Amino acid sequence: MILPQPLQQLVNAFERLPGIGPKSASRLAFYLLRDSSNMGQELSDALDGFRDKLAFCEECFNITVAEKKLCEVCSDEARDRRIICIVEDALDVLSLERTAGYKGKYHVLHGALSPIEGVGPDDLKIRPLYARLEDGEVEEIILATNPSMEGDATALYLSQQLAQYDIRVTRIARGLPIGGDLEYADQNTLLRALSGRQEMD
Ligand SMILES: [Zn+2]
Repeated sequence: MILPQPLQQLVNAFERLPGIGPKSASRLAFYLLRDSSNMGQELSDALDGFRDKLAFCEECFNITVAEKKLCEVCSDEARDRRIICIVEDALDVLSLERTAGYKGKYHVLHGALSPIEGVGPDDLKIRPLYARLEDGEVEEIILATNPSMEGDATALYLSQQLAQYDIRVTRIARGLPIGGDLEYADQNTLLRALSGRQEMD
């Protein structure tokens, strides 16, 4: 069956999203077609320019609204400035925040080192991290990159670079499944990984 063009266009768009196959894409499109609660319009409004309405936090590179320089975490005076948790992705911040067990700050690298894919230190937000350490306020850095080859390589690289500072450098514990991203770990596993963190050296 060939769908009318507007419907086919929607199906095609859904299909390009991660985790959505042709069947799910058709199901979603038909659902929106039948839906009487105006969900299609809501979805359309939410999508309209949403990327322009967002920016990266000037301090930690987490996601924030475009008119704000600092993200929710960085602008919260109650957060412990002495601890920085380094993650690969802003989605990891979300996962760790959901555990409600971490009260320090973050630093989002926006990726991990990968020689195979040509991702080097200058392709990540590593330099701005050093700038954050200059005032000597930070006492601990938790390396919470993913337990993958790239994540481990990134943690190792950073621990070597950070050795020149008088800062405790820890790596989250091995409670996480190997190769499993932080975003897929449940809250208890994440909390255990965080509390069981160990010195890097
Ligand atoms: Zn921030």
